[in-house]
Amino acid sequence: MTDTVPAVDASKPVVARFCPSPTGNPHVGMARTALFSWAFARHHGGKFVFRIEDTDASRDNQESYDLLVDVMRWLGLDWDEGVEVGGDHGPYRQSERMDVYADVAQRLLDAGLAYKAYDTADELEERREAARAEGRPSGYDGLHRDLTPEQQAAYEAEGRKPVIRFKMPAKDWTFDDLVRGPITFGADNVQDFVIVRANGQPLYTLTNPTDDALMGITHVLRGEDILSSTPRQIALYEAFAQIGVGDGSTPRFGHLPYVMGQGNRKLSKRDPESNLLGYREQGFLPEGLLNYLALLGWSLPAVDGVERDVFGLAELVEAFEVSRVNPNPARFDLAKCEAINGDHIRLLPVEEVAERLLPYFQTAELIGTPADDAQVALLAAAAPLVHERIAKLTEAVDMLRFLFVDDDDFTIDEADAAKNLDEKGQGTARAARDALAELETWDTASIEAALRASLVDGLGLKPRLAFGPVRVAVTGSRISPPLFESLELLGRSRTLARLSAVL
Ligand code: GLU
Repeated sequence: MTDTVPAVDASKPVVARFCPSPTGNPHVGMARTALFSWAFARHHGGKFVFRIEDTDASRDNQESYDLLVDVMRWLGLDWDEGVEVGGDHGPYRQSERMDVYADVAQRLLDAGLAYKAYDTADELEERREAARAEGRPSGYDGLHRDLTPEQQAAYEAEGRKPVIRFKMPAKDWTFDDLVRGPITFGADNVQDFVIVRANGQPLYTLTNPTDDALMGITHVLRGEDILSSTPRQIALYEAFAQIGVGDGSTPRFGHLPYVMGQGNRKLSKRDPESNLLGYREQGFLPEGLLNYLALLGWSLPAVDGVERDVFGLAELVEAFEVSRVNPNPARFDLAKCEAINGDHIRLLPVEEVAERLLPYFQTAELIGTPADDAQVALLAAAAPLVHERIAKLTEAVDMLRFLFVDDDDFTIDEADAAKNLDEKGQGTARAARDALAELETWDTASIEAALRASLVDGLGLKPRLAFGPVRVAVTGSRISPPLFESLELLGRSRTLARLSAVL
């Protein structure tokens, strides 16, 4: 996409924001929005504000708020102003700003830019039906726009509670979307809309522009699903300029593409692959997940015609031009997400892989909390065995369980035992045990030499048949890290005991 107007006004520092609602578990779509807003702010050396849209007490909850803060910290998307860190424009939870919205709504009423509407739900529905039947636009028809004080008093006397509606100026709305270029909404498509419910609850169409104006937000990147509310938001900014809320300017908007899941459907919050916490539980690295999320609508510019999918956050920030965001729907591909995460694991020094693995081993109760030094050292020694083989950190827990598990808890996969530890396999295990019992030096090279001599040369077995029974007896599974190194780490007495146990 080419911009008709540059995305950033050089004379005005960028202030971007992320303002999720704390309902349910944080999801992938949210994280993508947060990442793009953050990367945009960082790319332009601007500020990133993290605000919480918790105006709906019936849906929002503290647990969900805590998770959002937690997951933003885990991802490393730091914010300059916002919840938990504070700033000059707080508070940053909308539930703590209700007086601000009430004040702005009142000023809009006083200025004649908004009005109280007393229509009941039934009345609205009836008129909507009629409009549809006649092929007229079915939004609010403006019936209560110009009620006299007497008419209002009469409705109040009936006990009706009014909503507050914003008076939409009758004109077409055109704005230059940062992702999609110029977009126009015809006057007929945007009617007067509710900014405050009859129970006094302000809606996000009021609270977000209010906060964006008061917090000096210059750029709003958000999901395409709320594109249709943008003309309303822009109309509010124009009204704010008249009543002195904010500095009178309107932020630039950019709408990020939909993310499609399986079967060409929009990825829903309820799809399992949407659950952000699940990625942390499975052992995705934050940098791996962010790298993949960046690809949902964006890509690193090719260098000499070569495209590169794997990059770090610093490279992302350096290259993040919002004009490169692709307006077409992005496809979520879990296999690719895992592959990219695996690449990031391999990019880490092995010592760091060990450090990142530790909490997963503790969660699996294979290492205690606090961890004892010998177990930390064992993990450091074992990390090289899995470094090249895993796409997620929890895979290492499965592969290395045999090293950490108490001997009483050690189990062998039944199917693998049936295939590998039949009578012939047991004979192989016995020969292996006898050869290893004789070994003077317990290291990888000596273990390998002894097993080759006894099983391949001695019994005349092909290597795969020779080592399978040993592997299953000692590690509990046919799928495990390299065998000889594994035995070295497990130690002589535990290795011999496990080989004896299957006989
Ligand atoms: N809470 C809204 C959302 O996550 C944000 C609305 C906005 O960005 O203005 O979709």
